[in-house]
Amino acid sequence: MNFCNQCGETVTHIIPENDNRLRFVCCSCKFIHYQNPNIVAGVLPLIVDSDGVEKVLMCRRAIQPRHGFWTLPAGFMENDETLEEAATRESIEEANLKLGKLRLYMVTSLDYISQVYMMFIGQADNDFSPGIESLETRLFTESEIPWDQLAFPVIKDTLQNYFSDRSELVSQNTQSNQSLGKLSVTDMNSFPVHNSSIRR
Ligand code: ZN
Repeated sequence: MNFCNQCGETVTHIIPENDNRLRFVCCSCKFIHYQNPNIVAGVLPLIVDSDGVEKVLMCRRAIQPRHGFWTLPAGFMENDETLEEAATRESIEEANLKLGKLRLYMVTSLDYISQVYMMFIGQADNDFSPGIESLETRLFTESEIPWDQLAFPVIKDTLQNYFSDRSELVSQNTQSNQSLGKLSVTDMNSFPVHNSSIRR
């Protein structure tokens, strides 16, 4: 940052009085420009395919960074929208996907890039196509996930948590005499909420 966004004069990088961090401070109007983490809102979309199997929808990135790698619909939250609106908007932009009800699933702090990921689980109909930011959109079972071609560590964590939680829930359901594999998106309220961090 070189210039003050309040008055246009130059800024200096100093620790203001009664503070303990370097900040950009205007040399003229003394405005302190605080910089805070960005929020990324996204979703792990669950879709039952034509064979009745529940799968995860993923997108292959058509944009940098990590062009060509697989991700879940997610992106920076805009001003004047809620978290759910941001996740919903990103799903439309990246996969032309209309989500139903969303449930918060994972909150992950990435201190090294000053971002917080807020990932939901959401259900959607089997109706999607690549949006402008995607090269390809596809449904995956756990064994089909391209684990070595995932765009970001937080996407890997989200998927690993999901398949681990799902397997546990299926096993609980099986113990209560429900048939294996019948766990459907209607059970997404059974999933726990994860709070974690990824540090460099
Ligand atoms: Zn100023």
